[in-house]
Amino acid sequence: MANVTLASVSKSYGKTPVIPSIDLEIENGEFVVFVGPSGCGKSTLLRMIAGLEVVTSGHLSIAGTVANDIPASKRDVAMVFQSYAIYPHMTVAENLGFGMRVRKASAEEIERRTNEAASALQLESFLDRYPRELSGGQRQRVAIGRAIVRDPGVFLFDEPLSNLDAELRVHMRAEIAQLHRKLSSTMIYVTHDQVEAMTLADRIVVLRDGEVEQVGTPQDLYDNPVNEFVAQFIGSPKMNLLPSELVGDAGGAARIGIRPEALDLTDSTARLSGAVTACEYTGASTLFHVALASGQTVLASVNGRTMFAPGREVGLTFADSDCHRFDAKGVAIG
Ligand code: ADP
Repeated sequence: MANVTLASVSKSYGKTPVIPSIDLEIENGEFVVFVGPSGCGKSTLLRMIAGLEVVTSGHLSIAGTVANDIPASKRDVAMVFQSYAIYPHMTVAENLGFGMRVRKASAEEIERRTNEAASALQLESFLDRYPRELSGGQRQRVAIGRAIVRDPGVFLFDEPLSNLDAELRVHMRAEIAQLHRKLSSTMIYVTHDQVEAMTLADRIVVLRDGEVEQVGTPQDLYDNPVNEFVAQFIGSPKMNLLPSELVGDAGGAARIGIRPEALDLTDSTARLSGAVTACEYTGASTLFHVALASGQTVLASVNGRTMFAPGREVGLTFADSDCHRFDAKGVAIG
């Protein structure tokens, strides 16, 4: 286990600044997820921690030691990539033990740690197979296993589940969460998928254009987003943003944010009303698209089997406590 500290860390490619300056403290044993839209600098940040990119300025510390000039191989970190990066001509066992063979570890140690990793990832019955004989999820488990045998202080994951189909992604997500509980290691995980971030993280770091927008627990970010960007990035479907006069807010806000799940539909008139334009029935809940008189479409996610057919005039109800208030610059008020 190791903590990771970024103190005024910046990164430029040539003259182009990509990360102006980031301060961040990642605790021992914490699961931290970097999330943000494509190009916001998540991978660059992770690769600097891995030692695969040079830090332009500032201090990066791993386990209390400044690591800026420590080569990747000497850092106490192991990285799992989106492409599995396992050797096709080696069996699962050989892939898992490869790093240790290079380091000339004893046959006994190689066997012990290979078996430990295989057991942590339920790969015991696949040890003699070649990667081509494995499913995508099993291959990614081998890649994670290769990180485990290194017994690193910090695990780094760069979009490890992006190549898997939706069902497998959900499954592997749960496995990675379990693995974190089992190993209690520090894990830093990059994804553009806010659901992955919400379900895995102890703390989420939301990035935009190389800057940290907000750091907090998934609940913090969902309940108290500091600005409209975070408010709309966290939560799916995303938060509705309405001009405050439309909602009748007297609190001096420019815009009001209301999550789709905080809205309910009614037959009678309400503070907001409009016409249902689409109705997506998903089983447990139904997502209604409601066009307001202003032309704006609002999404309302309603539990159960309430049916309002497209074309129907409806009222939208909500509690004041579910309203997020933002000023003209999009910064949360109060
Ligand atoms: P993310 O992982 O969030 O999608 P990246 O960290 O890959 O974002 O990229 C951040 C920014 O840095 C992007 O604008 C990207 O174009 C730029 N970038 C990444 N790698 C290089 C590079 N080797 N040279 C120049 N610019 C780069």
